[in-house]
Amino acid sequence: MVITLEPGIGQHVVDEVCRIAARLDGVEPRIHRFEGATSTVTEVHLVGHTERIPPEVFEGIPGVRGVVRVSSTYRLIGRHGEGESVGFEYNGVRFGDDELLIFAGLCAVDTREHVDLMCKGLVEHGIVTTRMGAYKPRTSPYAFQGLGAECLPWVFEIAGKHGIKVISMEVTSPAQVQEIQIALRESGDATGVMLQIGTRNAQNFELLKEVGQQQEFPVLFKRGMGITLEESLNACEYIAASGNGRIAFCLRGVKSHLGEPHRNLVDFAHVPVLRRQTRLPVCIDPSHSVGRMFRDPDGVADVYHATGQGLISGASMVLVDFHPCRDKALCDGPQALTIPELPGYLAYARRVRAAWLDIREAAASA
Ligand code: PEP
Ligand code: MN
Repeated sequence: MVITLEPGIGQHVVDEVCRIAARLDGVEPRIHRFEGATSTVTEVHLVGHTERIPPEVFEGIPGVRGVVRVSSTYRLIGRHGEGESVGFEYNGVRFGDDELLIFAGLCAVDTREHVDLMCKGLVEHGIVTTRMGAYKPRTSPYAFQGLGAECLPWVFEIAGKHGIKVISMEVTSPAQVQEIQIALRESGDATGVMLQIGTRNAQNFELLKEVGQQQEFPVLFKRGMGITLEESLNACEYIAASGNGRIAFCLRGVKSHLGEPHRNLVDFAHVPVLRRQTRLPVCIDPSHSVGRMFRDPDGVADVYHATGQGLISGASMVLVDFHPCRDKALCDGPQALTIPELPGYLAYARRVRAAWLDIREAAASA
């Protein structure tokens, strides 16, 4: 059972809820605060035998906004009816329904020059968020595995020099979180990092607990490619249950030959499902969904169309592969857009986002 309090409510209401809960047998109250970019929501979760407790016991308390029985097991990331999505802030960047964030960048870091050209291009177009893979989980052990910890000092330095605020960077083992932390400190916190959990590690529970136990970095959780959405949501809950609530959920397509000729079957019809079921900002990765640079008869790339499909459905973040010289990319060059395409891509994304904002406003006033 989840008891949601009015935003900004005082501790006395929390105390009152807990006092009443203490009188009930076999029930333990747990207090959760969701510190968002714009407001803080407090919930008291009653764990245990709550089946027989009538909601009225708590509904009458001044300052209690609502009481819901929760059937989903992902209770921390879950939205619970009308509970709001408060978003979060990290290194001066706001994440949430009201912001559009484009994390465009290199699938895998290769050279300083490419990192420099990428960051420069982004900041020139008003983008301070990027993706830079240092640790690459590859299908073949003989494929390029990423430059690892060795590239972190110069990646952070170059990004910081250009004014990049957040780099989405995949981690595949707990030790890499520490490597990032150390390199970032040594760079004088030149930039910020969002820890990316790749689809292959969506159920790597030890890794999820590690990124959940640290409080410094937000986490971008990518859905598992071959498990149900429900299983991905439960896996994502591990991060929140371990103490870190700053999470964004990323759709990236699912594994199925039915998606061919695309790399994966694009699953962006799940954007509204995630917005309904969770309080997390929803990200889409059109690059790893589509996987190649196909174009429609008008010359518009399938990656654009997939981006549009996610944004028109309410996604507020996009993770997208760009490369200054895609023929030389060591990983996923064929799916990357190029720097000259950046302004056109951003204009496209912003137009679709504007259409979505209109749709949302019309729905709210209907
Ligand atoms: C990536 O974004 O670099 C990546 C490997 O994606 P995914 O985990 O979705 O395959
Ligand atoms: Mn890739």
